[in-house]
Amino acid sequence: MVPPGSRQALSSDKPAAPTTAFGENTLGDIAESDPIRMPDLATVFARRAERLAELAPGHELAGFLRMIAALAAAQHASLANLPPGTLPGNIGKTPLDPATWTRDASWRAALARILELIDRAALPAEALAARTSLIGAGAEELEGLADRFLDGDLEPGDAGRVVFVAAALQVAWTRMAALLDKADLASDEPTTSGDCPACGSPSVAGIVSPGGTKFGHRHLHCSLCATSWRYVRARCVHCGATDKISFRNLAGTSYLRAECCENCQGYSKVFYIEKVRSVEALADDLASLGLDMLVGEEGFGRAPNPFVLGDME
Ligand SMILES: [Zn+2]
Ligand SMILES: [Zn+2]
Repeated sequence: MVPPGSRQALSSDKPAAPTTAFGENTLGDIAESDPIRMPDLATVFARRAERLAELAPGHELAGFLRMIAALAAAQHASLANLPPGTLPGNIGKTPLDPATWTRDASWRAALARILELIDRAALPAEALAARTSLIGAGAEELEGLADRFLDGDLEPGDAGRVVFVAAALQVAWTRMAALLDKADLASDEPTTSGDCPACGSPSVAGIVSPGGTKFGHRHLHCSLCATSWRYVRARCVHCGATDKISFRNLAGTSYLRAECCENCQGYSKVFYIEKVRSVEALADDLASLGLDMLVGEEGFGRAPNPFVLGDME
């Protein structure tokens, strides 16, 4: 969902304002060469909220970024006192794939907590109405919304409510991913799929950090469970092709490029943390929708950020 008022900004030809936050390094505690990194529940949503709040001032989409910052803060707060979740019995390939792992009701407890705890002052009228509607919704209706979100098959009336549903599902999936052992997910072969090794979802963006080779490694970041995994640079995350890759960037932004594939017409964003130190994949993806407009006009496509959904098409 894109909130009222921002559609105009999104559809203009003007590139998005460059992000202004060149904050301190917050990645110092991460082993840069890990092939797979499971999410850290203590920090994942708090850090995302912080980064969104940092990106919002002066941004064309300031209101939208503040709303998602409030949502991420509520996701973080919701983690306290949730009922235990259920891990899959078999930890095989993509154990948390929504198509094969049956989610339990703990995601609805997370949703109730998010709706209760979110800072309502950060919500536009449409989101407040969606919140009220969800508070009154029954389990069956909520499960239907969750199914449609996970299947990528939304109905026109879902747009406002699905933002909260997506946030609650992220909490449920991230909690389960945090309990997995990355050794169970890592294979001996280099990762050839651009999808999450824990849940099979597409990434929101890639981050290249120094280390490994002099050019640094790229890690992709899962849109659903916040796992990140190493993926070869200059290789399409959609089809795996390496021969028809080219890059686009917005004028004046060297820390971010779109990696475009002529083979499948897919693209993905790559952030370079040697240039801007405090990147958070989901937050910085939302703050750079101007680049999506640019490459979208050239006919390239991607799996949308869960908080933008189909609105970019
Ligand atoms: Zn995942
Ligand atoms: Zn491709």
